[in-house]
Amino acid sequence: MSITDLSFVGEQTKAIHAGEMPDPVTKASAPNLVMSTTFVVDAGTGFSVEGFEEGDTWIYTRWGNPTINQLELKLAALEQAETAIAFASGMGAITALLFHLLKAGDHIVISDVTYAALTEMANELIPELNIEVTKVDTSDLEAIPKAIQPNTKLVYIETPCNPLLRLTDIKAVANIAHEVGVKLVVDSTFATPIATKPLLLGADFVIHSLTKYLGGHGDALGGAILGSKADLTPLRKKTAIRLGGVISPFNAWLIMRGIATLPIRMRVHEENALKVGRYLEQHTKVKKVIYPGLPSHPQYELAKRQMKNFSGIITFQVENGEEQARIFAEKLQIIHYAVSLGHHRSLIFYLNSQDLLQTSFKFTAPEQLASWNNFAGEGIFRFSIGLENADDLIADLEQALN
Ligand SMILES: *Cc1c(COP(=O)(O)O)cnc(C)c1O
Repeated sequence: MSITDLSFVGEQTKAIHAGEMPDPVTKASAPNLVMSTTFVVDAGTGFSVEGFEEGDTWIYTRWGNPTINQLELKLAALEQAETAIAFASGMGAITALLFHLLKAGDHIVISDVTYAALTEMANELIPELNIEVTKVDTSDLEAIPKAIQPNTKLVYIETPCNPLLRLTDIKAVANIAHEVGVKLVVDSTFATPIATKPLLLGADFVIHSLTKYLGGHGDALGGAILGSKADLTPLRKKTAIRLGGVISPFNAWLIMRGIATLPIRMRVHEENALKVGRYLEQHTKVKKVIYPGLPSHPQYELAKRQMKNFSGIITFQVENGEEQARIFAEKLQIIHYAVSLGHHRSLIFYLNSQDLLQTSFKFTAPEQLASWNNFAGEGIFRFSIGLENADDLIADLEQALN
């Protein structure tokens, strides 16, 4: 008993059933959690990953594991990807992909605003490996072709980007990159496969931090790369298995359980974000609200075209953000003052522009700074709107803003 052809079922059905089947021995309906690191094999099984063919048999959990495999099948089904590889964290996935695709002498074009750990890696570690990096505002489609060089191997974008919620037109960038034989990587963590399927828009690889919406409950780190079998089969050998940043089967099992409710969670994240966003927009203490689902977003037209769901992250600016952050940390009762995002629990955190521009986003061009200021001003509250009742979130903000 299992669905043989998932291409004809709806997204909710897919999220629940893809990658799963009743256990053939016990008939258990829920997926098994297989924590075993090793598997009993036939004599003559090779000891090196060189001779290892995916789907052969289970040998050692760093090479592959039935629970992790179920998660990968579920992810691939939702993203309509040929295949997926799960990692210990989003950064684990990103690192494995960069190590796979790049070597000394290569060049990459990367969005000037991405997840801070990646931007920091692009400032230091990547150039130390003699890989050139050019950071551009990828929402500016003219900036990308100008940055591409003969040794450019990939363009890396994040949309909506963390923390600005600035968008990049995936289809347009895919065309620009492919015209000159460059691959496109899209970090789609903020969008989730419910909002956007970058592979269908022309991207070559999709990255997810499973720690965020896909897991959805703030209790398991994980990451994934999705793409074609031709790209990912060698990647699994070269940088997943050998570098070793693989996910724990326990986390894979938790994240798989989270994904089962992703489509219905995203509906409520969006509904709550719209309500809270509209409340914030009319509040006298709030200077600016940025949310792709509001007409005030500078790229609202692109958001409507590229996102089937506007997701659940809002940023907003107030006078004297530092002071308001202290008040929020002390007075908010429901919303946690904490980093991370995409959980069922609402999370808010203040990001001071000056600090971030010094530590992570070391821009040089005035246009880059101007775009940052347009989205973030002196600083933003990044607000990951959870699945509580929107009215309760608004009441919590109201008592802490006034
Ligand atoms: C959190 C995040 C990451 C890193 O994921 P981890 O699971 O924390 O390693 C990468 N990209 C984006 C957009 C993120 O929000």
